[in-house]
Amino acid sequence: MKKNGHASNNKEQNGLTGKKRVSVLGATGTIGHHTCDLLALHQEQFQTVSLTANQNVDKLAGLAVALGAEYAAVADECMGDDLRRKLDGTGIECGAGASALIEAGERSADVIMASIVGAAGLAPTLAALRQGTTVALANKECLVSAGAFFMSEAARHGTTLLPVDSEHSAIYQALDAVDCAHVERIVLTASGGPFRTWTQAQIAAARPEDALKHPNWSMGQKITIDSATLMNKGLELIEAFHLFNVRADQLSAIIHPQSIIHALVYYCDGSVIAQASLPDMRTPIAYSLAWPARLDADFQRLDLATAGSLTFEEPDEKRFPALKLAKDCLKEGGAAPTVLNAANEVAVDAFLNRTIAFPQIAAIVEETVSQATSRLAGVKPDSLAAVMHLDVQARDIARMMIGQARLTAAGALAHSPPI
Ligand code: NAD
Ligand code: MG
Repeated sequence: MKKNGHASNNKEQNGLTGKKRVSVLGATGTIGHHTCDLLALHQEQFQTVSLTANQNVDKLAGLAVALGAEYAAVADECMGDDLRRKLDGTGIECGAGASALIEAGERSADVIMASIVGAAGLAPTLAALRQGTTVALANKECLVSAGAFFMSEAARHGTTLLPVDSEHSAIYQALDAVDCAHVERIVLTASGGPFRTWTQAQIAAARPEDALKHPNWSMGQKITIDSATLMNKGLELIEAFHLFNVRADQLSAIIHPQSIIHALVYYCDGSVIAQASLPDMRTPIAYSLAWPARLDADFQRLDLATAGSLTFEEPDEKRFPALKLAKDCLKEGGAAPTVLNAANEVAVDAFLNRTIAFPQIAAIVEETVSQATSRLAGVKPDSLAAVMHLDVQARDIARMMIGQARLTAAGALAHSPPI
């Protein structure tokens, strides 16, 4: 993606016709919460359009009232009546179920924050993208699952995509109006997660509560587990591949435990442009909300003297095989990343429910990718229906593997080696 590539199609309103109209998919999550906080703080600049949640209608209704939203949608149909009761008399319209989420995406807005977690966010994000609404994309699984198709739809509708993931926001800023043809390579940093210094044996016995203790970032559960396996960095390499129009071999990851430098862009003349900020997602969120302007925000500033040493090391793919797995799927292309993403969502869930041990997350994903490659050969993720078909099939295979692993291990899974 070339910066400003689609800027002329952006229905930019700020400063011209009044407030910028913003919707938030996944308003009740971590990214959604930060976004809504910024919308509340800057009501003179932003009008809230749609807000969505999976099930948390209390929080959704509270946010909708506080922000004066026009529409609120809950994904779980069963929560629809509850939401209606809570919003009764407020004048805020509401809906429930998959179609309500699509409506939330389709309502006229200037920017939509796509911050639903997982492939569940794909359909409503696509709905917004097809309206030409600028998409502030936090939901990396959209691009892992449906990258080529998603990007072609964005191009077809002339829609601007603004990355919210901190590394991708960093790259976007470092690419400032420069053609990717002059880019030699791009390096994404990774904190290394809570197990960076753990031995393989310690990692094998890691419990959900250990994996959920991220050293630098406070995030939703799924991405926190992905950060512990380093799958998150693998997903981000795939995300960067689609966003920035570079070859897979131009992308790499480096461990940087302080999470101050978020990405580095190497140019063909030896220059390297890196973006730095404290590990606070409000900075990339603010960037995407205000783009192409900047939001006047009073977040704590980076003080390099206080930060002290910035260190870097190569990722260890032996202790963290999920990273290599994702890189292999990126190289393979086609359905492989779609399957990888779906299997990972299922495996992370199973780990959080204590059904499988930590190393089995990567093992189940690997086995699912290998089985699905032969079973689903020929299915290309080139439409929403095809992506969802692959996603459902991959989830079935992953669940079957988890079931088989449980049977074989006869309840002793937590201490068994990877399947
Ligand atoms: P979260 O778990 O805190 O929030 C997820 C949101 O999605 C919630 O609002 C939830 O209600 C909604 N949701 C969950 N399942 C849903 C479903 N089936 N249908 C509809 N809505 C559903 O997650 P998060 O940490 O805010 O992450 C959101 C996305 O942003 C993820 O894709 C993540 O990878 C990405 N991201 C997050 C961070 C971070 O710091 N949290 C950083 C970079 C990227
Ligand atoms: Mg990131």
